[in-house]
Amino acid sequence: MRLQGKSILITAAGQGIGRASALACVREGAQVIATDIDAALLERLAAEASGLTTQLLDVRDSAAVTALAARLPALDGLFNCAGFVHNGSILDCDEAAWDFSMDLNVKGAYRMTRAFLAGMLDKMARTGSSGSILNMASMASSMKGFPRRFVYGTTKAAVIGMTKAIAADFVRQGLRCNALCPGTVDTPSLRQRIASAADPVQAEKDFIARQPMGRLATVDDITPQVVYLLSDESRYVTGQAVSVDGGTSI
Ligand code: NAD
Repeated sequence: MRLQGKSILITAAGQGIGRASALACVREGAQVIATDIDAALLERLAAEASGLTTQLLDVRDSAAVTALAARLPALDGLFNCAGFVHNGSILDCDEAAWDFSMDLNVKGAYRMTRAFLAGMLDKMARTGSSGSILNMASMASSMKGFPRRFVYGTTKAAVIGMTKAIAADFVRQGLRCNALCPGTVDTPSLRQRIASAADPVQAEKDFIARQPMGRLATVDDITPQVVYLLSDESRYVTGQAVSVDGGTSI
C-alpha cells in the first residue's frame, strides 16, 4: 500500500475532493485525520470508512488550528484542501469578499502549515521518515486567467507562490511541498454554482464546453495525484504546481 504507516491530515474533507482524498488515502494504508467545518459531513464520512479519524476544524480559526497541532502526534502528510470560489470580477469583489477568500484560501494553508510543520520536521529528523505537504491550488491561478474568478485566481496564485517558498526553505531537510491544480471538478460546490446560475442548464453546458476532453473531472480523476504527491513515489518532486486539468491548459 502506497501510504502505509503514514499519518495524514486533510482539511475540508467533508465533501468533494477532500472527502474523496481522505477515502483514497485510507485505501492506501494511511491513518487519516479528516477535518472539516461541517460536523454532519464528517459524521457521514466516519460512517463510511474505518481507519479514519474525524475532527471538526475551521482553518480560519488560528487558536483551533494551533490547539489541534499541539494535541496530535506529528504528521507525515498534510493536505491543505480548504478553499472557496468567489464568483465575479474585481468589480464584484468588495473588501469583505477579498478578505474572506484570502483568509480561507491562502491564510488557511499558512496557518495549518505553520502549526504542523515543526512537528513534521522534528519527526523526520528523529526517525528518518519523509514529509509531504500538498496545497490545493487550481488552474485558475498563475496558470491561467478565467472570467469571473478574480479573487479566486488571485488566492490560488498565492497558494502556488507559498508552495514554492516552503519547498525552497525546507528541501534540504527532506520536506516536500507541492500544489495541485485541478480543472473543473464535479463536486457539491460546483453543483451549487451551476444551480445558482440564471440558467442552470446553460451553465452546466458552458462548463462542459470549455473542457477539451468533453466532460468535467470527477473527484476520482484527482485523487490518484493526491495519493502520489503525498506518497514516497513523488520523493524527487517538490515546489511543483501539478495540473490535472483534462487538457484545459494545452
Ligand atoms: P467543496 O467546495 O464542495 O467543499 C468544500 C468543503 O470545505 C466543505 O466540506 C466545507 O464544509 C469545507 N469548508 C468550508 N469552509 C471551511 C473552513 N473554514 N475550514 C475547513 N473546512 C471548510 O469541495 P471542492 O469543490 O472539492 O473544493 C475543494 C478544494 O479544491 C478548494 O480549495 C477548491 O478551491 C479546490 N478546487 C476545486 C475545483 C472544482 O472544480 N471543484 C477545481 C480546482 C480547485
